[in-house]
Amino acid sequence: MKKIYMDYAATTPTHPEVVKEMLPFFNEVYGNPSSIYQLAQRAKGAVEEAREKVARLINAEAEEIIFTSGGTEADNMAIKGIAFANKKRGNQIITSKIEHHAVLNTCKWLEKKGFKVTYISVDKYGMIDLDELKKSLTDKTILISIMHANNEVGTIEPISEIARIAKEKGIYFHTDAVQTVGKITINVKESGIDLFSLSGHKLYGPKGVGALYIRKGIKISPLLHGGHHEKNKRAGTENVPGIVGLGKACEIAVKEMATEGKRLKALRDRLYKGLSEQIDEIILNGHPVNRLPGNLNICVQYVEGESMLLNLDLEGICASSGSACTSGSLEPSHVLLAMGIPPEIAHGSLRFSLGRDTTKEDIDRIIEVLPPIVEKLRAMSPFGKNSKSKEYRE
Ligand code: PLP
Repeated sequence: MKKIYMDYAATTPTHPEVVKEMLPFFNEVYGNPSSIYQLAQRAKGAVEEAREKVARLINAEAEEIIFTSGGTEADNMAIKGIAFANKKRGNQIITSKIEHHAVLNTCKWLEKKGFKVTYISVDKYGMIDLDELKKSLTDKTILISIMHANNEVGTIEPISEIARIAKEKGIYFHTDAVQTVGKITINVKESGIDLFSLSGHKLYGPKGVGALYIRKGIKISPLLHGGHHEKNKRAGTENVPGIVGLGKACEIAVKEMATEGKRLKALRDRLYKGLSEQIDEIILNGHPVNRLPGNLNICVQYVEGESMLLNLDLEGICASSGSACTSGSLEPSHVLLAMGIPPEIAHGSLRFSLGRDTTKEDIDRIIEVLPPIVEKLRAMSPFGKNSKSKEYRE
């Protein structure tokens, strides 16, 4: 049985060219970039080359890129870094109810340290309420942190508009772009973004490496204290192989992103069409148009997402129910609840995220396999067809 991987939003396989590029930095060019001999300077050179490549993908300057251990650290560094560096100016932070836990739990922690956090609502498509955002601003607001695209439903937020609102008031704007880097075009300069998080393993790079873009001139309080690495913003010997891999992944994304995006969108639409023709009462989650090309998140009414996942797994199909980072808990997704989806419907969510190796044959196999799974599960479903869910959204 061919394994069909449809969970690229959780993580991606490392691109073979990325692996090839990384290998010499484990046991050939293993010098510490802070040392002065040639073996070390070659490693340092490779780190700087990778910095250029990351910068090129998002239209930043190389010196504005700080390498981190991933998206979580980049989010922590941005939010805590701005909060502590600007404590004297104010203590209010604005974020949204649908952020990744790397942002939400950082904000919750800051609340315990005396910061005031406002969590903005979203509409039924997962779009930020810009009016609520504007009304929440006070003279104490120091930071707005709103994600670029949501990891569960793929909705792309109006970040240029949010950056404009922030700039008018002299407030910093951070965006968690972990799900968008390498998938859609990003121009941090044109969009007016101040801080921007990305992660290697979501764009065919290695796990455990990421970066934070910090616009030139912005001061942050570092999270880690130690040596003078990364312009005193992030202490610790650089993860040279990981950084080299991230750079290569960004270089590949520059070349392939546009055509790959079109291909994935067509496959994703084929999947939704096929499933909705064969399964009644399914709901598309996320924005119908402003959504990541490879994302399909649906709620299948009267069945549990987890049960569908287990049955799909038996057929060799890997998908997810809500966010991979929160799966394992039986709480319905905080994102779907924030979008106003009743808990009993949210429990039936299924996310397919497509990527590099997804083929038309894979899509057609899912369209063949999922409807009988749903029929079987519905036949034994504890949720009657008379549940409240029938009234939802009609
Ligand atoms: N932010 C978003 C939107 C994500 O989807 C993820 C990972 O799922 C992260 C942050 C965390 O990134 P990392 O796994 O690199 O720590």
